[in-house]
Amino acid sequence: MSMNSTQSALERLKPAMDDIPGDWDIIIIGGGITGAAILREAARMGLRVILVEQVDFAWGTSSRSSKLVHGGLRYLKEGRIFLTKASVEERQRLLREAPGLVEPLGFLMPMYKGGHPGRTILSAGLTLYDLMGAGKRHRFLQESAFHAQMPHMRREGLKGGFSFYDAQVDDARLVLRLIKEAVDDGGWAANYTAAREILRDGRGLSRGVILEDIGGARSREISGRVVINATGWWAERLHPSSDRTCHLRPLRGSHIVFPSWVIPIAQAVTFMHPSDNRPIFVIPWEGVVIVGTTDLDHREGFDDEPAISKEELSYLMEGLVHCFPSLSLDSENAISTFAGIRPVVSQSDGDRSPSEESRDHVIWKDRGLITVTGGKLTTFRRIAWDTLNEAFEFLPEGVTVDWNAPVFDSPEEKGIDGVDLPEWDWQRLFGRYGKAARPMVENSSPEDLHSAGGTPTLWAEVIEGARHEGIEHLDDLLLRRVRLGLLIADGGISLLDEVQRRCGPFLPWDSRRWREERNRYRHILEKSYGFPGRKPLPSAEKEGFLTKTVRKARQRFRL
Ligand SMILES: Cc1cc2nc3c(=O)[nH]c(=O)nc-3n(C[C@H](O)[C@H](O)[C@H](O)COP(=O)(O)OP(=O)(O)OC[C@H]3O[C@@H](n4cnc5c(N)ncnc54)[C@H](O)[C@@H]3O)c2cc1C
Repeated sequence: MSMNSTQSALERLKPAMDDIPGDWDIIIIGGGITGAAILREAARMGLRVILVEQVDFAWGTSSRSSKLVHGGLRYLKEGRIFLTKASVEERQRLLREAPGLVEPLGFLMPMYKGGHPGRTILSAGLTLYDLMGAGKRHRFLQESAFHAQMPHMRREGLKGGFSFYDAQVDDARLVLRLIKEAVDDGGWAANYTAAREILRDGRGLSRGVILEDIGGARSREISGRVVINATGWWAERLHPSSDRTCHLRPLRGSHIVFPSWVIPIAQAVTFMHPSDNRPIFVIPWEGVVIVGTTDLDHREGFDDEPAISKEELSYLMEGLVHCFPSLSLDSENAISTFAGIRPVVSQSDGDRSPSEESRDHVIWKDRGLITVTGGKLTTFRRIAWDTLNEAFEFLPEGVTVDWNAPVFDSPEEKGIDGVDLPEWDWQRLFGRYGKAARPMVENSSPEDLHSAGGTPTLWAEVIEGARHEGIEHLDDLLLRRVRLGLLIADGGISLLDEVQRRCGPFLPWDSRRWREERNRYRHILEKSYGFPGRKPLPSAEKEGFLTKTVRKARQRFRL
């Protein structure tokens, strides 16, 4: 693609509005997992392709999932064997291709007297699950063996339980890795660039979109042979479904994040909530424990970040306290919360309960405009292929898909002489950053190869995010390029001086801009990652005042 060769990969990631070429094979709207996966595959095919995202890459549901790469046992229960099979195959592929990003996860599922479904049904389901994946992995544990593995779990009525395997991922990093590798292959990706309108010619054929940058300061038209609307639960804003019986039903799912010392578990556990018998997950992830999720109609507006409600917080706490009675759990000890909106396509006129709605993806087309929504993070590649299949009729002749190509570029997975980094950290960096991992480490000072705030994240990753990953705001960096905002109490605001010191040289921000960014970050934390009813976080000015006062007192009293 001659047009692609003149710009560097860095310039194709987050280009200025005026630098975006005007003519494309494919324009993708939406920078979640669906848009990112389509971009990756289209760039691999050598197509001229751009993705535009109204806020930040993975800002929507794709950074707010339960972070499981799973076959979905519940789909099996619903008889959706093909969806489960496709998901299990994708899970196995991702485990093979991206260790360090997608990791195996042991699961326990307790069985209580009188609980449903019974042991025989579950055993049959798990056998099928195993057969679709890596062979026999599940087993039944008698009560005492189960208790030994999950000692804090309610023992009253416990009959034992199953042990089985799934996998987990850093969802936002998965999106980022796909986007960055697509950009390395000649694709373009612009965050903070919204598609405001679909343009059509006299015959009604879609011919492009009107783009608008942050705050609507600049807008312009670009044209494309085909436009793909991958905007998740926003999809009907740009392209309403013409089928009266098939519409998006936004369903919110919220999570609570605890420090691992509060819920000490070595593997994930799923149990039935005592009030409605829905499955709840408790999952160790990145040194913390995630508890989720709820499933209810989201009635708030499109433009605000979703947040956990008081009722959801109480519901999840009720389930937790019931499940782990000996831990005296209290939401006061939790670190953060987050909520996402499932883009569920309902064909039920809203008369089904949220949990009964299908999680399949759906594609609808209208003269060069293709909308794809619904589905799961796990099956992103299949969703991308299904969508591109619908786009072929509009694309140049001779474009082919390589169904066997690996999803990711394979990095040269070896360390660097003289760099003392444990094997585990290398794996993590190769998984999350692919080929960018080695240059990242080469350009890091030894002090950058240490943990940020006691988390598995290295300071080098925070700096990489600021330097090379197209951030616009501090929240892009701390909530999506790295996940410190979820992993450290109060979103890690105690680390902000350190973040500013280390990342400042790579960002064009003066001290006023840093203050604004810090205040914006606090505001977002309070609104969407905090706890309803908790005390507000101190403002940047107040925090600055407190820091100065403590520093002065220390100097005065030589502390
Ligand atoms: C609580 C919860 C837990 C989940 N857990 C799992 C799980 O464990 N495993 C799993 O496989 N799946 C899970 N899922 C499902 C999965 O997360 C979603 O299906 C997936 O992330 C949807 O991705 P998407 O790209 O379609 O949408 P999104 O990630 O929402 O992306 C759409 C993007 O489009 C952008 N956009 C909207 N309008 C415009 C516009 N006009 N111009 C430009 N950009 C625009 C938005 O800003 C957004 O970033 C979960 C979902 C939820 C809600």
